[in-house]
Amino acid sequence: MAAPPTTIEDFTSAIRSRGLEIPQAIDSSLRRISKQDKRIRAFLHVMPEYAQARAEELQKRVDVGEWPGPLTGVPVAIKDNILCRDVPATAGSRILEGFRPIYTATAVSRLLDAGAIPIGKANMDEFGMGSSNEFSAFYPARNPYDLNCVPGGSSGGSAAALAGGFVLGALGSDTGGSVRQPAAFCGLVALKPQYGSVSRYGLIAFGSSLDQIGPMARTARDCAVLYNAVCGHDPRDSNSLPNTAPIRVEQIDAGVRNTRLGIPSVWLRDGLDPDVRSSFKECCERFRSIGAEIVDVELPNPQLSVSAYYILANAEASSNLARYDGVRYGLRDSESIDIRALYRNTRGRGFGPEVKRRILLGTHVLSAGYYEAYYQKALMVRRQVRQAFDDVFASVDAILMPTTPTPAFRLGEKLDDPLSMYLCDLFTTAANLTGYPAASFPIGLSGNGLPVGAQLCGPAYSEGTLLGLVHRFTQGVPLPLPDIANAPVEEGKSRD
Ligand code: GLN
Repeated sequence: MAAPPTTIEDFTSAIRSRGLEIPQAIDSSLRRISKQDKRIRAFLHVMPEYAQARAEELQKRVDVGEWPGPLTGVPVAIKDNILCRDVPATAGSRILEGFRPIYTATAVSRLLDAGAIPIGKANMDEFGMGSSNEFSAFYPARNPYDLNCVPGGSSGGSAAALAGGFVLGALGSDTGGSVRQPAAFCGLVALKPQYGSVSRYGLIAFGSSLDQIGPMARTARDCAVLYNAVCGHDPRDSNSLPNTAPIRVEQIDAGVRNTRLGIPSVWLRDGLDPDVRSSFKECCERFRSIGAEIVDVELPNPQLSVSAYYILANAEASSNLARYDGVRYGLRDSESIDIRALYRNTRGRGFGPEVKRRILLGTHVLSAGYYEAYYQKALMVRRQVRQAFDDVFASVDAILMPTTPTPAFRLGEKLDDPLSMYLCDLFTTAANLTGYPAASFPIGLSGNGLPVGAQLCGPAYSEGTLLGLVHRFTQGVPLPLPDIANAPVEEGKSRD
């Protein structure tokens, strides 16, 4: 029997040419999940009956010569903070246990219109707050390349589901790096689109001025197909851009010649893991060898971006999370004798430690006397970072940098040290502060066989250029899929 396709492109062409039937493909995905996900824990909720029924229905349409769309039959994972009607959505939090949304997110409706088959809701850090998936209130997901390591976060389940071979595409969300960092840790391509390109309708809010839903896949072309399915104006998101266009094939095939890439070399002087440093050096050489011009650029210290991000994201989160009060959604403390006790007990029990820390920090930076010192200053930094990126984009097509300072770390390693967890976002938050698109892609493996990723960030509407550059870069250098069948798991320190 031929090996099952590992990319969306190969999968849909096999379906089209009748080399593969959708129900069989979905069955084999589900079988793999039931065998392996006990160890990887990529999913919080799997929907076997729904997926099988949809597979039958799509196959019938293909059998009569219809072609429902560019994602016909493709199994996908949806991060658990993106709503699907009647399917539990917890956003990785106990406070939403039992919540069943009454509508579907625009991004998911668009995937359905393109023929995709959502197979389950992916594990994540609670409300998107984390970089390791260990802040999931239920259980941490693990990295299929090494089950003792984290898959990254907060879209760790989406990344683990892809790298584990359960699905061929996934949706994550990125507020400060949450599709790009797990993609880097799991050898995948992920795109954080321009703010406003993909509708946030039906995305459980974390930091509304930073949140974007982003596609994750194994290749740049697959990522482009997913992006094209979900992007575009949506009147139900008030920040949705009116003029987002899908990526064109010519952009993906454009090549690298006449492209100028800027590298903020000063950022890379200290604090980089040696494996990341050497893979990134090779990445720059490869870009040069395929025709790119590489120049040095000056950008504000990335620590400024991380600091501003953790003020703004937490401030917005403290307001967004005020709605979980035991009255409207999910968990309710039924013992409480008055309304204050209901709020206190529901929120006390329902939120995990990281979310509580963020709500406290966010409330503090917005409070009288501190607002000017923190929140307003962070807004000023945000404007400066945006200005600096604009200045740099006057002379380069994109900025190239590592996605993360280190490859995946071991479970438990950073759990008691919030600051070192926050520093995972050193290179990713600037794209959220500026709103500009950024794509992470695999550039090699560390000495321990863990993936290393780099990131390209471009000006507004440059998604096609970025994925084109990634496509050209990764052509001919496929990463091996992890062999999860026999991987041992050590009992490490973790919250479950
Ligand atoms: N790791 C970052 C945080 O914890 C980013 C999260 C995200 O993008 N959702 O805030």
